[in-house]
Amino acid sequence: MKIIKIDKKIWSDGVEKSRDSYRLIGPVKDREFHQFRELAKGEQPDMNYKNSRLSPKSIAFPQSETMFIYDLDEKAEEHHIMQDAEKDYSPRAVIGIRPYDAKAFKILDLNFNNSDYQDPYWVNAYNCTTFISLAVNSPDKFDFSTSCATGPFDDSAVDVLLVDYNDSYLAKIMTDKGLAWLNAAGFTTKNGEIDGAVTGVSEAGEDIYEIIEKLKADAESKIRSKISFDKIKEKSILDIFNAPFWEDIAFACLNCGTCTYSCPTCWCFDIQDETNGRKGIRQKNWDSCMTPLFTVHATGHNPRHNDWERTRQRFMHKLKYFQDKYNQGIMCVGCGRCVEQCPANIDIRNICNQMNNGE
Ligand code: SF4
Ligand code: SF4
Repeated sequence: MKIIKIDKKIWSDGVEKSRDSYRLIGPVKDREFHQFRELAKGEQPDMNYKNSRLSPKSIAFPQSETMFIYDLDEKAEEHHIMQDAEKDYSPRAVIGIRPYDAKAFKILDLNFNNSDYQDPYWVNAYNCTTFISLAVNSPDKFDFSTSCATGPFDDSAVDVLLVDYNDSYLAKIMTDKGLAWLNAAGFTTKNGEIDGAVTGVSEAGEDIYEIIEKLKADAESKIRSKISFDKIKEKSILDIFNAPFWEDIAFACLNCGTCTYSCPTCWCFDIQDETNGRKGIRQKNWDSCMTPLFTVHATGHNPRHNDWERTRQRFMHKLKYFQDKYNQGIMCVGCGRCVEQCPANIDIRNICNQMNNGE
């Protein structure tokens, strides 16, 4: 692993230069909140943002995605036959994604790309994306990522990890994809050698590894909230499912779905056909286990008829079923969005501790 130091004075020009080979996506402020979207020519990612309102999962798992188009007009040549919708899987770079949000893509990948099932839309979109991540020097009060096998400087799911350091970004190059983007941005020499570089000690005599480790330790020490889920795995599903606390936990829940839509690791979706006149599309749309229609059967029976059962499902899935099925921790990266945005102050950290300790 190599590290280069990028002077912030050349950052914007480099980002713009990389546009010759990549579509660029980054955090931008729209009205009150930041969101990730494709950057227009000349538009820069806001590298000072705190957190985006919605997670960047829509980069590979859009809120609504057209899979097929069809024509019901019998005079049309291929009427009543589903045609693949046009897609653009040319290389793209997402700049400024937080390390825990990048880690969430690995969690989604377990669901959308495994030995039993590969979702081609997800697989193609994920594979064509390069993750140029930005470490979090000052985590906010909702962040509990260090409890969730990730953290503000986690480099395990990124192609480049940028660390904001005075007038520079220290760029840890984690993969060949990351190096290719740095080359395209002109931050390295043409043949991919590290230029003006820092692979240990910089020209100024600074030990770059030590600086990054220190910034990382500082950032992690600012994260005060912790969760424990070690005992959840040992307990039986029914013990937790039938625990007496669920109706109390869910009492205030509005089943509004804010937590699921803002979450980087929630993956539920629904497929619908929409027809307008004789033309139609088949779409994949985000759905939420919090809504009554999500599980309603064609007979009208709903196995999760009560609102508190739907609330229980969300936490059982994230904290129990996922652990049991994949043995890879919990289905949460501790980004804190659901805690910050829930209108009823329902806090996954408290619920996790209750499930763990049976309080
Ligand atoms: S937990 Fe909060 S955000 Fe989630 S559905 Fe209930 S009220 Fe809405
Ligand atoms: S459950 Fe909440 S804290 Fe965990 S990843 Fe989802 S939004 Fe973030």
